[in-house]
Amino acid sequence: MTVLLLGGTAEARELAEILVRDDVPVVSSLAGRVARPRMPVGQVRIGGFGGVDGLVRYLTENAVTAVVDATHPFALGMTAHAVTACRETSTPLLRLERPGWSSAPGADSWHWVDGHEEAARLTAGLGRRPFLTVGRQELGTFTGPLGRHRVVARVVDVPEFALPEGWRLLTSRGPYSLDGERSIMEEHGVDVLVTKDSGGTFTWPKMEIAAALGIPIVVVRRHAPPSDVPTVTDARAAAAWVRSR
Ligand code: NAP
Repeated sequence: MTVLLLGGTAEARELAEILVRDDVPVVSSLAGRVARPRMPVGQVRIGGFGGVDGLVRYLTENAVTAVVDATHPFALGMTAHAVTACRETSTPLLRLERPGWSSAPGADSWHWVDGHEEAARLTAGLGRRPFLTVGRQELGTFTGPLGRHRVVARVVDVPEFALPEGWRLLTSRGPYSLDGERSIMEEHGVDVLVTKDSGGTFTWPKMEIAAALGIPIVVVRRHAPPSDVPTVTDARAAAAWVRSR
């Protein structure tokens, strides 16, 4: 048995650890988006597969017997490719996706939007000093609508395009603390927070601090998970699925 574990998340690293400990042959796959990724234990490959065809080839050439898609809830392209490639090759596929924050305390009072464009438009009217925590790849959507705002944007790696004057870039990587998030929001006078519904605990403290400071929160809703694919929400359950094969 060889398991392909599509990763880039804390849950994927946790699952790799369990499988390696249990002597299950597993290859973790990372997109190679960030300069210094957090590496899972065990065997790792880095870089895209080359679309669905490339993934089909990879699954076949490497005799992959099961795939666990533990990519981020907003990594929609990889998730869609995994569904198609696994269907074409009859490879069993499991989705490991951490629960979102839609039922978290305070979620009823957040501004839920269906995409980053809507988030950018709405944020422009909600405040003058937004705190953007949507990731580097999405920043381009915000530069137009928030071009004249005093934005604080937090990313892991510096974007390759120029940001508007008056934007402040913070480079760091979670997990974040309550104290750290409070310092950022107070120091920069943040008056609106923008995030994806990433879920999990690593980036949750900003939500708590924004609520405590009375700062409105704009949250980009998740897309529906792939239908017809068994889904679990934590690494242990995913390991049990792998063992059951
Ligand atoms: P995406 O839009 O779904 O993926 C775009 C392309 O990147 C895929 O078609 C694939 O290229 C390649 N790719 C993505 N994940 C891969 C993986 N685990 N292994 C090999 N290739 C992968 O994904 P994204 O939103 O850019 O995210 C990239 C990675 O960052 C994901 O692994 C995800 O778990 C992680 N991440 C994403 C976010 C986020 O907010 N989107 C946040 C934290 C971590 P090919 O078509 O060439 O195969």
